[in-house]
Amino acid sequence: MSLRVGIVGAGLSGALMATMLARRGHRVSVYERRPDPRAVEAEGGRSINLALSHRGLRALDGVGLGESVLATTVPMRGRLMHDLSGRTALQPYGTEEHQVIHSVSRAGLNRMLVDAAADAGADLCFGARCEDVDFERAEVLFETGEGVRERADHDLIVGADGAFSVVRGLMQRRPGFDYQQSYLTHGYKELTLPPTPSGDFAMDSGALHIWPRGGYMMIALPNADRSYTCTLFMPLLGENSFAALEPPMAETAAVGDAASPAPAEAIEGFFRRSFPDALPLFPDLVEQYRENPVGYLVTVRCSPWVHEGSAVLIGDAAHAVVPFYGQGMNASFEDCRLLDEHLASVTRPGAELAEALTAFAEPRRVDTDALADLAVYNYTVMRDRVASRTFLLGRALGRLAHRALPGVFLPLYTMVTFTSMPYAEAVERWARQQRRVRHGVLALILIALILIIRGLS
Ligand SMILES: Cc1cc2nc3c(=O)[nH]c(=O)nc-3n(C[C@H](O)[C@H](O)[C@H](O)COP(=O)(O)OP(=O)(O)OC[C@H]3O[C@@H](n4cnc5c(N)ncnc54)[C@H](O)[C@@H]3O)c2cc1C
Repeated sequence: MSLRVGIVGAGLSGALMATMLARRGHRVSVYERRPDPRAVEAEGGRSINLALSHRGLRALDGVGLGESVLATTVPMRGRLMHDLSGRTALQPYGTEEHQVIHSVSRAGLNRMLVDAAADAGADLCFGARCEDVDFERAEVLFETGEGVRERADHDLIVGADGAFSVVRGLMQRRPGFDYQQSYLTHGYKELTLPPTPSGDFAMDSGALHIWPRGGYMMIALPNADRSYTCTLFMPLLGENSFAALEPPMAETAAVGDAASPAPAEAIEGFFRRSFPDALPLFPDLVEQYRENPVGYLVTVRCSPWVHEGSAVLIGDAAHAVVPFYGQGMNASFEDCRLLDEHLASVTRPGAELAEALTAFAEPRRVDTDALADLAVYNYTVMRDRVASRTFLLGRALGRLAHRALPGVFLPLYTMVTFTSMPYAEAVERWARQQRRVRHGVLALILIALILIIRGLS
């Protein structure tokens, strides 16, 4: 016997989940509000590329997609810091040569996943916007065109419809559902840095470039077509902010809504002051800056992710995190792997299915809550601390400690990015390691003091 599963959203997590469950023999239908990504050009302005790392790759490997996805990526061995005078310094990501992260095209990856879901036998309905869910009957109500509404019932509904999930919004109306959403006071804007006239990468292609400037930063990830996608992260309001580059706007307007475009001198002047080595690499900075929207950065936490035995949330629908640890997609893919493992022996609706969903969701929520905190914390690290001497010293000591005691001491970044250790466990282990280092340093100081006092007496 197999389950009838309705998945809302054919984004990154929905398409991978569909592939996994269809391969197990379940009858999977996917409802996606957008058109088929294989038939249309990708939408611009929304994280054109993403950093794929161990957790994401492990899930892709599970359905045999790891190698073919990797073949489309550009490996990045570390962060290449750009200071104000244009000098660069590389901070490797891993403690081993092979520990790299991979820049992957969101649109290309989505197309591969949708293809895989179709190949596995999932029924894909594009242009189908989920409007309502009857949780008791596991029924999805979706709109397929102006006024055309359809219903489909299932045994299980998977809400994979992203940070502003409709499925989660409907679960929220039920008693006992906790929900928390918090926006950063910073936003982002994406800009494309094209290849050089001779068709080469304009900068070192083996790294993620960062221009840390204290209160704000720009990053750039290489693309397979030899361009870079740059993302400018900056406060929405105040000094050095998106609003500061725009003409004054109405009090009720959102940033980016100014009636007239940001003046060219303001944009170029800001880039000349903040990213002087990047400015000459953009042939059309002003046009891009004006055209591309400002994106907002939200963290979403909610509980429970499960409605009895009939619905479960995964990916950003369950836990949207800000992008500074490069883990949102990786964690979403890890959700798919874990949920798939929990459902491995479930073949019919009922108590067993309900138990499997809860066994997946409860511990996982603790982990993604830990990731949400880490992701916010890493923004201050990336835009500010990466350039500080204390940070560099701490990092060097961490790497030294790892070399001396590889089984005992693991840098936090390594645990998060290059292992599948549960996020909460990584954070706990890191705190324990920090305590040990502090105690070790105190003990050394104490011993030195005792030796000095003895020498004096
Ligand atoms: C600027 C930025 C940079 C990022 N960088 C990284 C990175 O480097 N590494 C990383 O791991 N993660 C990164 N992320 C996070 C990553 O993009 C998300 O975690 C990931 O896209 C989550 O996948 P998802 O499938 O859960 O949601 P989504 O990708 O948002 O997909 C949701 C899907 O549901 C569909 N949908 C929504 N509502 C409905 C409805 N009512 N009916 C039907 N369909 C619906 C949408 O059209 C969409 O296709 C970044 C995010 C941002 C914003």
